[in-house]
Amino acid sequence: MSHKEIRKNPFTNEWIIYSEARQARPDRKEDFCPLCSGSPEVPEFIEPIRIPNKFPALEIGNDPKKISSGEFRTKMSNYGKCELVVYTNIHDAKFIDLSNEEIFQIFQKWMEATKEYSLDKNIKYILPFENYGEDVGATLIHPHGQIYGFPMIPKEIEKELDAVKQFNKKNNSCMFCNYIEEEQERDERIVFQDNNLIALIPYFARHAYDVFVYPKRHVNFLHQCTRTEMDSFISTIKQIIVSLNNVFEKDVSYSLSLHQSPLNTQGSNMFHLYFKIHTPQRNTKSLKLLGAVETSTKTYINGMLPETAANILREKMS
Ligand SMILES: [Zn+2]
Ligand SMILES: [Zn+2]
Repeated sequence: MSHKEIRKNPFTNEWIIYSEARQARPDRKEDFCPLCSGSPEVPEFIEPIRIPNKFPALEIGNDPKKISSGEFRTKMSNYGKCELVVYTNIHDAKFIDLSNEEIFQIFQKWMEATKEYSLDKNIKYILPFENYGEDVGATLIHPHGQIYGFPMIPKEIEKELDAVKQFNKKNNSCMFCNYIEEEQERDERIVFQDNNLIALIPYFARHAYDVFVYPKRHVNFLHQCTRTEMDSFISTIKQIIVSLNNVFEKDVSYSLSLHQSPLNTQGSNMFHLYFKIHTPQRNTKSLKLLGAVETSTKTYINGMLPETAANILREKMS
């Protein structure tokens, strides 16, 4: 039985997930796809489905109580959820080739999982995402995404939640809503907008082409969005990925993640959801690899101003 636990770094208050099972993932046989219909995991494909991740980093076990052995060793038992969402039975299809209706069905799975996970008081954050391409670590070609349910709020999200809480205390309004308004006024980094959403490369983007897509209305969760808002998200996200492919003249590797409010957490109604599209691609030839500065200090060096990248990407949007 392989060992799994979650440990805390007392210097940074970050949690690190240890899961030895993941090292034991077998090399896949080239001619076998576990996600094609007819496989043991997907006997028959009718519509997008959620299936358990066979090599989960997190899984439901004993309650995730924090145990401290002295000042420096705090851990909790491994707890959480890891699922896959299989999008289609067409092995070599891509997310961007799926119809809007098919993507809506995928979003429905994300919403369904959010509602389900929130009933488990031990789950504090859910991250649905789509990884495409080797450069972001996708190991299976068959179109699929993943859903993680964490027993803690990941540090990055906790920092955002702290910032919005502080802003709210001072201004009695949503920091994200205010930020979106200012970006609209300045109109320097907007890639696309309509009545429902705004897509932009933020003032503080870590990577050249990190695109954030915010609903204009203050919503915490995807299931609070209307079908019209959802349709805007779907067509805009597809168009952004197609435009990135056009900028780099290739199928870029990317991740698409949905950032919603933390679950079972006080003050989480102050969070404003957004989608994030990230590609490590920085020009047609090379990727932005994380170097010593980034890995040692988490201070990012970005070779392109967000306004420049937004201009380039906006021109490709049609
Ligand atoms: Zn397949
Ligand atoms: Zn808001």
